Parts: sequence; structure tokens; C-alpha cells
Amino acid sequence: MADQAGASSSHLKIILEEEDDYDLIYGAESGWVEARTQCDHLASLSSDLAHIPTPNTPCNRCQHPSENWLCLCCKDVLCSRFVNKHMLEHYKQTTHCIALSYSDLSVWCFACDTYLDAQVIRQLRPVHETAYILKFGEAPPHRSEECPQIEDKQAKDMPSGS
Ligand SMILES: [Zn+2]
Ligand SMILES: [Zn+2]
Ligand SMILES: [Zn+2]
Repeated sequence: MADQAGASSSHLKIILEEEDDYDLIYGAESGWVEARTQCDHLASLSSDLAHIPTPNTPCNRCQHPSENWLCLCCKDVLCSRFVNKHMLEHYKQTTHCIALSYSDLSVWCFACDTYLDAQVIRQLRPVHETAYILKFGEAPPHRSEECPQIEDKQAKDMPSGS
């Protein structure tokens, strides 16, 4: 009597999507330039980086007034590749390859053709800090490698309700 209803067998097909977004994870497209934490040319750094010219020192060649580079090998101050390329020229003539930007205090290695992380590389940290103090008048904020001392600066003279 009862007809056997047409067996409806619905097989759920599980579609395994292949995940091929490795590029999204590893690609460096967002304009973020990674600074290296090591460089083979640190031996050429000047041995006296405790005393460096001030950030507003003009280019030693063309007197360009600002945003120059400091050669960390001989402490010459030279303009950028966007001005008269004197730092680049200096590198080609002397092979002094490590320079610190007085515009944003980044450190560039011409030989590695990359930025160097001056807060991680031990040899660069002191000069970065010195330059930072010269530029901003205070020490750079330290990365949390040690517990920061929380200074008790709670407002002590909060006006109590009268
Ligand atoms: Zn110049
Ligand atoms: Zn130099
Ligand atoms: Zn290098």
C-alpha cells in the first residue's frame, strides 16, 4: 500500500577548500618595511659614537639644512638620496655603509640595502639613543625588556569636593 517514497539521499558534499593564502600571511605588501636585527657590517662603526653631531647639522657638502644622514663610520653628516645624494655618494666612495637618518632616526645599511633595527642591535642602541636625546631632548621609550618602574604620579592635589 504505502508506496515507498523515493529515497532521498542527500549526500552532503564537504568541499575542502584549499587554503592557499600563504601570500597573505607572508607577503610584505602593506608597506611595512621590516628592519633587520643583524648586519655583517657593524665592525665598520665608529668607535666613538658617544659624541655625534646634532640633528640639525647641515650637509657637509652642499649645506642642505635638515633631514640629513649621519655616517656611523666616520660621523660625516650628508644629505639624502632625495636631495643631492651625498650620503649615497659617500658610501660609494668610502664603502661606509651604515647611516642614521636624522629625520626619523632609522638606521640604514647601504651594503645590506635594508633598515637595521637600532633598538635591537646592541652596537646601534647607544648611538640611536644619543641621537634621540639630541633630537627630542629625552630618552627614547624603552621596549619592555625590564619591568617598567611605575612612578606614582597620581594626582595628589585633586580638588576635593567643597
Ligand atoms: Zn648634500
Ligand atoms: Zn663615512
Ligand atoms: Zn649591513
